[in-house]
Amino acid sequence: MSKERLLTGLQPSGALTIGNYIGGVKRLLKYQDEYDTFLFVPDMHAITVTQEPALLHKRIKELVAIYLAVGIDPKKVHLYIQSENLYHANLSWILECHSYFGEMSRMHQFKEKSKNHENFTCGLFTYPALMAADILLYDAKYVPTGADQKQHVELARNIADRFNSRYGKEYFVKPEPVIPEVGARIRDLQDPSKKMSKSTDNPKASVFMTDDEKSIRKKFASAVTDSDGKISFDEENKPGVSNLLTLYSVFTGLKIDEVVAKFQGSGYGDLKNEVANVVIDTMKPIQDKYKYYLESTEIDEALDEGREFTNKIAKEKYEIIRNVVGLGRN
Ligand code: ATP
Ligand code: MG
Repeated sequence: MSKERLLTGLQPSGALTIGNYIGGVKRLLKYQDEYDTFLFVPDMHAITVTQEPALLHKRIKELVAIYLAVGIDPKKVHLYIQSENLYHANLSWILECHSYFGEMSRMHQFKEKSKNHENFTCGLFTYPALMAADILLYDAKYVPTGADQKQHVELARNIADRFNSRYGKEYFVKPEPVIPEVGARIRDLQDPSKKMSKSTDNPKASVFMTDDEKSIRKKFASAVTDSDGKISFDEENKPGVSNLLTLYSVFTGLKIDEVVAKFQGSGYGDLKNEVANVVIDTMKPIQDKYKYYLESTEIDEALDEGREFTNKIAKEKYEIIRNVVGLGRN
């Protein structure tokens, strides 16, 4: 039996953090064996906010190098860049014309992101239509995503449904959002009331997958804790210490109770030091491969193959849809 299709992507909005590693990248390894996986770099989504062009190019490449370094196998996964497939934007336009201003206006992420800017782009507003196109072009059944994107997948589902009923046939597969079981949420090292993010303004707040040993040690050494001095797991009252315990737990596979027991009687300095050690031990081999891939031709080979393959599928779907809505010649 052929595998079911799954589609996912990570925005190249910054270098990946160890939070992204735990909550996002590691899961891909499971998907690549279980599903027909489409993994793309949504670079067109990234320009909904201002980007520095040279930096965006660099981040796209770095993101693909990280994927290969953690063990994504381009023989199993269709790995491609969104902007290298013109059908995404073309289908997006048709879908925009099948979605309503009212429903787009209800998207939480737009409300959230637009309130921080005086002048936000129209792209930020219509982004969910492009995301719907990303998904519907490939008849992807499953779309793993963070909880913040669930509403967008549901919108894609609604658009698919509306389109199918308007034109009287199942032209699009209705996608299902997959919200992975709540794993560890890694907190910001300087403000543990927030989660760790790649698009942070404070470089001390996030540990990046590509940070060198010295900066990883420094960042953990200056992580915010509390003045209580005792090691226990209490996310509400001791978020900083609990975050360090969580990190130790996910990087070693030990249970939180076991980690707490191990550090009984130790000081915060010891805990920070040990967390730094396990993070460095895990990241070191990934970083070595990452450096190798950045310099290799394998990135381009994988992306070329992904581009060819996905363009073929997307073209077929797009031509059908274009014809169905009456565009061009019959
Ligand atoms: P941005 O600031 O650009 O939103 P981000 O770090 O929040 O960056 P996302 O692109 O939103 O990253 O999410 C990528 C993946 O990483 C998702 O699967 C998300 O659930 C996961 N993830 C993000 N931050 C964390 C975190 N602090 N702990 C665990 N998982 C995380
Ligand atoms: Mg995020």
